[in-house]
Amino acid sequence: MTENIKGKVVVITGASSGLGEAAARLLAKEGAKLVLGARRLDRLEALAGELSLGKDAVLATDVTDVGQVRRLVDQAVKTHGRVDVIINNAGLMPHSPLERGKVEDWDRMIDVNIKGVLYGIAAALPHMKTQKSGHIINVSSVAGHKVGPGGAVYAATKHAVRIISEGLRQEVKPYNIRTTIISPGAVATELPDSVTEADVAAGVRALYDRVAIPADSFARTVVFAMSQPDEVDINEILFRPTAQE
Ligand code: NDP
Repeated sequence: MTENIKGKVVVITGASSGLGEAAARLLAKEGAKLVLGARRLDRLEALAGELSLGKDAVLATDVTDVGQVRRLVDQAVKTHGRVDVIINNAGLMPHSPLERGKVEDWDRMIDVNIKGVLYGIAAALPHMKTQKSGHIINVSSVAGHKVGPGGAVYAATKHAVRIISEGLRQEVKPYNIRTTIISPGAVATELPDSVTEADVAAGVRALYDRVAIPADSFARTVVFAMSQPDEVDINEILFRPTAQE
């Protein structure tokens, strides 16, 4: 078992697949108490069954609805008496060139990737301030550091996640709250399925087929950040496949 993880109450958004699911699997192994949110409740329930989590370990949650995110965090507090960590992970990546004017995709990315993270912060922070401890982990991306053709809106949302996290880091010092940005490169998940333009999706899939690494790579970064002594705050972890440009 890794230091500082056993017994911690961890809320994860977007835990029904990919990075969130992988983090849930590793954290369960490390003895964390999990409360998992996503829209696909059947997937969450299957995961909770497999990991032998309690019946209150999952909640159908759409992160674009602040009330639902508050209910998810409140469920953790009601069940376990506190919330030690929130991993604001839910996200999507429908890349496309701006000239195609895919405004619905832009709206969804802004709503899920930015507002969803803000709602997670809004839901968890009051509890963490009262506790005078906590850890807010926000999932950005390599795209939070650079932009390429077709990726402007996604990269904008992931840059926003980094800026919000850094602002948060400076504000929450009085409450002994840690903040971590995790910025992955290509990791094999269902994320390419969120691309709505067929030609762009084919390009994304080709890249992922060539370089993507297993989702456990992300889970290990979560464990690394969480397992530091309380006075050590890992501000950001940027990682990518060795083969990725
Ligand atoms: P997946 O598509 O496998 O998982 C996305 C998760 O987000 C799912 O659990 C999905 O659950 C959830 N989600 C999507 N929309 C909503 C919503 N409105 N409310 C609640 N949950 C939602 O992709 P990843 O695991 O790869 O993505 C996780 C995060 O990692 C994202 O923020 C992504 O941008 C980021 N990332 C991923 C990289 C990669 O290469 N895989 C690289 C860099 C960053 P459901 O549909 O059940 O609601």
